[in-house]
Amino acid sequence: MERSAKQALERLRGVLGVARSISDSHDEGELLDLISTSVCEHLGFGRCIIYILEPDSNFRARAGANLPGAAPVELPAGYKIPLAAYQRVESGCERIGGVVYLDGRSPLLSDPEVAPHFISTPASAGGAGEWHPASLLFAPLLGDGGTLIGLLNPDDPLDGKLPDPDSALVLESFASLSSIALKLVRANSEAAARVRILEAQRQQVARLFEASTTLQREIQLDAMLSEMVRTMAEAGGFSRVGLMLLEPGSSRLRVRATYGISSEQVRHLLDNELDLEDFAPMMRPEARISRSYLLDHTRFPIPDELLAALSVPDARPDWKPGMWHPLDSLTIPLYDEESALIGLISIDEPVNGLFPEPYHVEALEYFADQCATAVSQVTRFRRLESLAHTDGLTRLPNRATFMSRMLRSLAECIKREAPAALLFVDLDHFKEINDSYGHLNGDLVLRAVGRRLRNSLRTADLIGRYGGEEFVVFLPETPLPNALAAAEKLRKRIESHTAGLAEDGHLKATISIGVATTADLDPSVLANPEHAGKRLMALADSALYQAKAGGRNRVSHDFSLNGSHQYRFTTPSGGARLRHLA
Ligand code: GH3
Ligand code: MG
Ligand code: MG
Repeated sequence: MERSAKQALERLRGVLGVARSISDSHDEGELLDLISTSVCEHLGFGRCIIYILEPDSNFRARAGANLPGAAPVELPAGYKIPLAAYQRVESGCERIGGVVYLDGRSPLLSDPEVAPHFISTPASAGGAGEWHPASLLFAPLLGDGGTLIGLLNPDDPLDGKLPDPDSALVLESFASLSSIALKLVRANSEAAARVRILEAQRQQVARLFEASTTLQREIQLDAMLSEMVRTMAEAGGFSRVGLMLLEPGSSRLRVRATYGISSEQVRHLLDNELDLEDFAPMMRPEARISRSYLLDHTRFPIPDELLAALSVPDARPDWKPGMWHPLDSLTIPLYDEESALIGLISIDEPVNGLFPEPYHVEALEYFADQCATAVSQVTRFRRLESLAHTDGLTRLPNRATFMSRMLRSLAECIKREAPAALLFVDLDHFKEINDSYGHLNGDLVLRAVGRRLRNSLRTADLIGRYGGEEFVVFLPETPLPNALAAAEKLRKRIESHTAGLAEDGHLKATISIGVATTADLDPSVLANPEHAGKRLMALADSALYQAKAGGRNRVSHDFSLNGSHQYRFTTPSGGARLRHLA
């Protein structure tokens, strides 16, 4: 083999050795250091500088390395290469493959646009093919769509020669590997920064909501709606008013406030599920008056099924045409700020027995608007509050919310001297799932596992997403054997579940679980629920660690005996074995 090809191959091998650590790097500065050092150590250069193109169209040196003994990289403070100067060099250079090479004796280096930006070295002798101290070598770092994002600038070749096509090719390949690694690091750190900002925002919102709970708001809303409904009836001169709200995401109507309707009738209305559809005959366009619907039953009869659901009373004995009849109706729709229908107010039986005038209807609508505003405010409050307390991906409580709920539940258990258990759940080899199927599918798996765990628990049990691919489960009133059984049930349910996400339809995830119970705690710790909570987490976490070390897809619990840890696993086959640790 030709000498240069052999050398190139050796270099390639060296570079491949660092390729893995380069693509694993998580910090841009660290990555650039690694790249410049690798160029020196493996590609046969005494020095290497990496320039990154900044938004002001200047390349700035971001990392520099030199081999021991080589002249150290020293750049004047604030040193930068304007993009225009580089482009000038590039346009007048020689290219060796994809690498830019400018001989140190080139007149271009005296060009007024170029000269001020490169460190000049006095010309000295040296033949063709020899490296001159002022020679420039650049391997471009390219971003999306081939845009220039930086430069690798190796210098001072150890063999004193300018690069041949083989070593230029290695350098070029190394530059493109570096470009990809740089892109990944940037994408990762952008994502991490976004997550940090979101998390900070979430915490702020959570604090805002601490002051007022949903329950308080709902109680206030109920009081306010009852008051409005009463005002509409009493001041408006009607015997009966009912306010119904649409259940979120459905067409079901639920009675929320009433006036003049007996509790028996209300129950009747609640039992007979009312649907928006049912009110369509009462809200026909011909019955429209202002924004409401005034229905005269002599003109538009009401369907029998609806009559049955509404339990309409008999007409007054003195009823005659032109007077209000129990089959007549006034329906006021409630709209939110986005003009979406959120409910109805149904008004009945004018005290004077006459049909309301249009201005009368408008006055009622004014009160209806107040109700609608109050309802949509509470709805928005509820939505924001749940956003602040849940994890966006799995919709499970986030760590902070889980912790505070767990502490409350744990304190209750301790007070009643009831046992409680904590499970630390971690997906097995989740990094491999991400690596094989992509992060998007990884996310789907996380969501599916979270849902499955939640659905496998009792209502009093708590679950939260602790972080990444870790979940925490708190089981109140649960002694150790039941906790182990519950954990084993969770493990099996996840194991038997095929997420069906991969192309072949088989993406299996397994989980490992560490279990700790209040019985594992020193009785003195129980005096302080917060300490007890922390201790439980720590114990469950180390049991989880043992479940991982023991082979994963298993449940582990620490039966501490005389200070030596004994971890008991339930194995995937359902049996159990003891492992002794010093
Ligand atoms: P082990 O069995 O030891 O737990 O191995 P592991 O690969 O599950 O554990 P490791 O802690 O090495 O990796 C966890 C991985 O989970 C790495 C991280 O990228 C991934 N991950 C964390 N959060 C998310 C997420 O929200 N979505 C996706 N798709 N992946 C995530
Ligand atoms: Mg894991
Ligand atoms: Mg983990």
